[in-house]
This record gives sequence, structure tokens and C-alpha cells, in this order.
Amino acid sequence: MKYFFTYKPLSEIEKEKDNLNYSDYLISTEWKKFRDKIVERDNSQCRICQRKEFFADKLDAFREMTDKEKSEYLEKIKKEFLKSELGKDWVKIFGSLPKFGIPMVPKEEFNNYESVILNVHHQYYIKGKKPWEYNPNSLETVCSDCHTEIHNTQTIQVYEDDSKIDSKPFINCWKCKGTGYLPKYNYVMNGVCFECQGKGRKE
Ligand SMILES: [Zn+2]
Ligand SMILES: [Zn+2]
Ligand SMILES: [Zn+2]
Repeated sequence: MKYFFTYKPLSEIEKEKDNLNYSDYLISTEWKKFRDKIVERDNSQCRICQRKEFFADKLDAFREMTDKEKSEYLEKIKKEFLKSELGKDWVKIFGSLPKFGIPMVPKEEFNNYESVILNVHHQYYIKGKKPWEYNPNSLETVCSDCHTEIHNTQTIQVYEDDSKIDSKPFINCWKCKGTGYLPKYNYVMNGVCFECQGKGRKE
């Protein structure tokens, strides 16, 4: 898995910027360490569907054509070529057909080559807390699909302070559906949602 960012200690991020936003915390080594511990505790798998993290390489999802497929493909493409203007001219000038390349084809189980990305879900939030300043028991490892489902079906509370008396319901960010992550962008900024800076909600 190739990442286009690096985790940095919070002290270093603070030196570069005056006003930190939530996504800065999510790319700090402090969060990475805490998050990895939660994932390890949960046996590196989604607590709901039990899937393990898996970074699909789409190239693995393709295979070479069989000999039969190759000859059928070549026959078809030659016919099409000969019907085209270019094809007619080509044969006139060169007296023979060009060499056609054979493309790869998707494997039957193409859809199993989707990545499974693990997120760490906060069961509630407390205003002003950094993402790692929570009781580990209130965090859980879930895959990005189950994570979206949680935020679709449950209302997460945002507490005013540690007393956990006053709270407001969490209003999901439209872009990441409340998860704070965009799995498709996992390789940039760790997939942190750029709409809500990873908070999962609009303030
Ligand atoms: Zn899952
Ligand atoms: Zn969540
Ligand atoms: Zn978002």
C-alpha cells in the first residue's frame, strides 16, 4: 500500500501550523499509535462483519485470456479493423494486418478484489478532546462499510464535557456519512474526509 502522506508527531504539526483542525490530529503519530492498539485489541478485524483489512490490487483482479478467447478476440478485432477506413488503407499500403495486442480480462470473482479498510469508530465524542483522549472501551474497529452503516442507523452524541450530562446529536457530514473517512481516498491523507476534516460532522 502506497501512502502519499506521513504520520508526524503532534509537536511537529503544531510547529508548522497555528490553528490545527481535526484532520491534523488524525495524521499524528499519537493517533496512529492509539488507533493501532485498538485495531490490535480487536484482532485486526471488523467487529461487526469480522473481515480483515485487505488492500486490493486491482491488477490481481485480471487474468490472461484462454487460447479460445484469444482466437475469438483476434478474429473479431481483425474483422472490425478490415471494415474501418484505416484498416482498408493499411492493407493496401502494407499488404498485411498489424499485430494486435491482447488485453487482460477481469476474473470472475472481480468484485472480491475490493479493499477492506478498517476504521476506528468513536461511540461518542466529547468536545475539545483529541481523538486519542478517550477510554479505549468506547472505541471499536469496524470496516468502512460497517462504519457507514453505524452512522446511518445510530445517533452519535457529542458531549459538552467529561461529565457526559449535556449532549447534542451528531449531524453526519454529507460526504463521508459521518465516518470521517473516504475509503476511496485511503492513499491520500489516510482517507480523512476533506469536507469535515475527519470530524464526521458539520459544526
Ligand atoms: Zn465490517
Ligand atoms: Zn464512527
Ligand atoms: Zn466528512
